Amino acid sequence: MAKVKNWQLGREMHYPYEESHPEWQFAAVFNINRCIACQTCTMACKSTWTFSKGQEHMWWNNVETKPYGGYPQGWDVKTLKLLDKADPGGMQWKDGRYTGKTLFEAAAGREKVLGYLPTDEEWRYPNLGEDVSTRYEGGGLGISKEGASLPEHKSWFFYLQRLCNHCSYPACLAACPRKAIYKRKEDGIVLVDQERCRGYRKCMEACPYKKTMHNTETRVTEKCIGCYPRIEGREPLTGGVPTETRCMTACVGQIRLQGLVPIDPKTGDWREQRDNPLYYLVRVAKVALPLYPQFGTEPNIYYIPPRWVPRPYLRQMFGPGVDAAIEAYSNPSRELLAVMNLFRKERKIVFRYAIEEGPKVYERTIRGRKFTMYDDTVVGYGRDGQEIVRVKIEEPMHVRSRERSNAV
Ligand code: SF4
Ligand code: SF4
Repeated sequence: MAKVKNWQLGREMHYPYEESHPEWQFAAVFNINRCIACQTCTMACKSTWTFSKGQEHMWWNNVETKPYGGYPQGWDVKTLKLLDKADPGGMQWKDGRYTGKTLFEAAAGREKVLGYLPTDEEWRYPNLGEDVSTRYEGGGLGISKEGASLPEHKSWFFYLQRLCNHCSYPACLAACPRKAIYKRKEDGIVLVDQERCRGYRKCMEACPYKKTMHNTETRVTEKCIGCYPRIEGREPLTGGVPTETRCMTACVGQIRLQGLVPIDPKTGDWREQRDNPLYYLVRVAKVALPLYPQFGTEPNIYYIPPRWVPRPYLRQMFGPGVDAAIEAYSNPSRELLAVMNLFRKERKIVFRYAIEEGPKVYERTIRGRKFTMYDDTVVGYGRDGQEIVRVKIEEPMHVRSRERSNAV
């Protein structure tokens, strides 16, 4: 195995192939705090890509309720158990560095990645456990009689939005004996070559997020294609410029921001571009974190963790940055508040942002810390430098004239 640099782990790790990186990487930030589980994203994807015979069980995008939900059922618990068995007690972090084994490093014998193949039964119920909370002692049925207050609720659940992470070190690609899976140079999107695939399902076994799926009609594997025609700018409605995917643009809760980050060809790390909104959120504000970074695939979907969930649960899921991310989100800086307002305001991909400063709106104390809000304007620019979106922090108030009011 080769040694590659995984910045999410803060160290090098073993991977079956040498370093090879795209020029840009498809990435997204999801704000879990805002998701209402309406499943509009899920249906937008389904009605675009997986409505054919043999694809009935395919939900390339799904939203599941944690801690009990999962599609396929138990995908994360099963993988975590396997990893713990192979490396007992190893899943630990020290000073931002992961000290345990990844799924590549824990694999034994001829296997490239530690994994398992879900059963047919586990693929049967896409949203089992929806809205089921943990039990509240004394309150029954997960309902606290005392009500709930931050920082952590006594009974809780949250929605986890999931799609292929278009990983920097894809486990699916590493495990494929046919070399049918590849990562595109131009945007880092991971695709399955349908001609080469023979349906061995080694990728399904290897992907810890279980995001490759078997087509029972064609007998080959399929997965999220990152809506690549839209990323390439082939969506006619937006005039030939890079456009966010279907699941992102459909999001009712405005929780999603997707884009492309430039990659340093030498190191494979994100090239510094502070005014790229994704770069800012992940690498500067550090408000968004990868899902199960300890698996080692360097996933490219990032999550702003939910504020009300017990921290140990979140730390095992998103790594050691959880507390700082929640703190940053709960009392946002002037810049973070402005960038958060770019979420789901425009279908075209924002490559760069700028902030035009506005007047102070108010000042107050939030849990002992001063918070000041300004009516700034955040401006988003497309790949060609053209302005594509402009959002004010204070939503403008429009007062109808008496003549146009319903009361007349
Ligand atoms: S999430 Fe799974 S299917 Fe997607 S790139 Fe990563 S390993 Fe492959
Ligand atoms: S559309 Fe947005 S708010 Fe609705 S379930 Fe999907 S991610 Fe959540």
